[in-house]
Amino acid sequence: MARIVVAGAGAAGASVAYHLAELGAEDVVLCDRDSVAGGATAKAMGGVRQQFSTPAEVRLAQASIRFFQDLGAPFFDQVGYLFLATTAAGFAELEERAELQRSLGVPVVAAEAPAGVHSDDVVGAVVCWEDGVADPPAVARELVRRAAERGVEVREGQDADGLDTDLLVIAAGPWSAELGRRVGVELPVRPLCRQLLETGPIVGLPADLPMTIEAETGFHFRRRGDRLVLAMADPKLRWGFDEVVDETLFEDRLGRLVHRYPAAVGARVDRAWAGLYDMTPDAHPILGRVGEGIYAACGFSGHGFMQSPAAGRAVAEEILGLEPSFDLSPYRLDRFERGAIFPEQLVL
Ligand SMILES: Cc1cc2nc3c(=O)[nH]c(=O)nc-3n(C[C@H](O)[C@H](O)[C@H](O)COP(=O)(O)OP(=O)(O)OC[C@H]3O[C@@H](n4cnc5c(N)ncnc54)[C@H](O)[C@@H]3O)c2cc1C
Repeated sequence: MARIVVAGAGAAGASVAYHLAELGAEDVVLCDRDSVAGGATAKAMGGVRQQFSTPAEVRLAQASIRFFQDLGAPFFDQVGYLFLATTAAGFAELEERAELQRSLGVPVVAAEAPAGVHSDDVVGAVVCWEDGVADPPAVARELVRRAAERGVEVREGQDADGLDTDLLVIAAGPWSAELGRRVGVELPVRPLCRQLLETGPIVGLPADLPMTIEAETGFHFRRRGDRLVLAMADPKLRWGFDEVVDETLFEDRLGRLVHRYPAAVGARVDRAWAGLYDMTPDAHPILGRVGEGIYAACGFSGHGFMQSPAAGRAVAEEILGLEPSFDLSPYRLDRFERGAIFPEQLVL
């Protein structure tokens, strides 16, 4: 069998390599020019949800959640994903989305805000208890370990460009366009800087606190140990490779947290970090064959960790000439042939 090089050992590349090995591929190299799980995967919030707004995304997420369930603790904590709406219009939108999700088999139900979550201004809420939060670098490292166990050669500090290969898989996250260019494939993937804040310890955080998201603002938070991790889109999109924390937003974000989770009063930001989303113009990934002997698993646009199990499996299946276990057609590169325009505004 031909030699397959998977470029990038983040969540996406780890999943492709693991599934290739699992499906019987023998000559597979997983390389990273830096280190395993050292890119966007190390920066991610770790949200894992099936509550998406298009059938294609819901199916991708459904196929992935089974994988996370099998991984279980300590990699995945199935605490649920709660969306709160504070306006009638916001709630109507949540209900419409929930109807689509239910029709596809996702168990989304009406919810009350759990203990500790301020709800006086909440008009309605939905939750899916199958969703939850995970530890992205730990999951990626575990998949790399399993891939290596099944014969994949793992090389850190190795640029894919320096390797002989019959078949290349571009799973280089925000750097995928650069690698694509070097091998003659134009991938419309652009880096977008996003930041996360972690509070200091907060006494009495319940172990089963769901990921909590305000539908209208996008402000969300999750528990990590005895701390909360917070995120919200920046007021102005920050395109580019600079990973810079904007401290001017801290006060606003802490204020939102105390409003929604009053027990956080007095909490400070202990740690903050910025990372890169690998955006495509329609915020959907590019999966499958993109050129002669070249495949892609990139452009995940901020959802790649949770989509990586199913995406990696389907790309591995296509590489090995098997029928992909879900429909890759919504994710083909050629959908951008009519011009790829990156939006000015995004709701993430
Ligand atoms: C702040 C933030 C929050 C996020 N929150 C979530 C979330 O809650 N849920 C979710 O599902 N997703 C989330 N994401 C997105 C998620 O992190 C990624 O989509 C996911 O981890 C998949 O990453 P990846 O493997 O595609 O890329 P990366 O993890 O960036 O891995 C790409 C790897 O490729 C390597 N590389 C680059 N060029 C080359 C080359 N030429 N040769 C060899 N190696 C190369 C890099 O060193 C890097 O290690 C978040 C991202 C950020 C930044």
